[in-house]
Amino acid sequence: MGVQNKQDSPDSGPEQKGVIVAHHGIAVDILFESGERRMVKVKRQAGHVVGDNVTVTGPRLFQLPRKTELCRRDSRGSVRIVGANLDVLGVVISPMPLPTPGYIDQAIVAARQADLTPVLVINKGDLENSKAFIEKVSATYGGIVDIFVVSALTGEGLSALTRYLGKGVRSFFVGITGVGKSSLLNAICPTLDLRVGELYEAGNRGCNTTTVSTLHSLPEGGELVDTPGFNEFGLVDISVADLAGFFPGFEAAMEGQCHFRDCRHRGEPGCAVSDLVEKGKIAKERYTTYLALFDQIQAGDDRFKTRR
Ligand code: GDP
Ligand code: ZN
Repeated sequence: MGVQNKQDSPDSGPEQKGVIVAHHGIAVDILFESGERRMVKVKRQAGHVVGDNVTVTGPRLFQLPRKTELCRRDSRGSVRIVGANLDVLGVVISPMPLPTPGYIDQAIVAARQADLTPVLVINKGDLENSKAFIEKVSATYGGIVDIFVVSALTGEGLSALTRYLGKGVRSFFVGITGVGKSSLLNAICPTLDLRVGELYEAGNRGCNTTTVSTLHSLPEGGELVDTPGFNEFGLVDISVADLAGFFPGFEAAMEGQCHFRDCRHRGEPGCAVSDLVEKGKIAKERYTTYLALFDQIQAGDDRFKTRR
């Protein structure tokens, strides 16, 4: 079901198909299939987001059904849709600063929950201490998700990433402050021109800051959605079943090998995950991350609740 944008004026002109490339509160910027780009007025809370496919007939805007929506929680705890019809979530990490414990796992679960393909992008591959970090990450996540080792600084590894994104995917990148996400996005998408090294600044401007998502076409194909000032990424509306089903590294065990079909992998008899942990095929620390997240979600921790 699409959302009709109620307008009193009669239909006029032919129907045009397009995609929302920016949202300005009372108007959306639409890139039409014809190549034309134009603003169309919308109601402020009409719920349109960047990446939405729409048809426009005169002043009427009609939103087409979404394939995916990626949600995030803002600093006040409200849930917002970051973008519609995204395909790939790029999780940017670096040896300096290191990802916070559980960050990678949560990002992968969030992507899978939203039906996006998660990929890991290890930035700052030029740093001397990066080797050990790359090895550790590859040992844990290799074969589970695609991993790109890059340096936004030297350009190393960027062509493999742009080739991947160029296969017609629409992507969104997350990463904790300082990993070089802005530098990386600037390197792959010159029209973005993000400011580098603005640590914590975006969050400190009070409530006047409106973060506008924008959709960009990449020079070598594919598209990128960016939301300035968006660094931290939490799980939204996650259930323990989602966590059990999407936790990276549990894939081998998921293929119907647990004795109970709705196994939560917490010591149930015949659990294939416990078996892999015992055999050392799933690292103990990752299993501990899983159990801790599980407990928080089950306890109804505020972080996982929704205030729309
Ligand atoms: P963001 O907070 O994730 O957007 O990170 P920025 O792009 O602002 O970069 C944070 C700092 O890391 C800046 O000082 C950048 O110059 C530096 N940086 C970014 N990418 C690289 C890289 O590939 N290698 C190195 N050595 N430094 C980088
Ligand atoms: Zn199990």
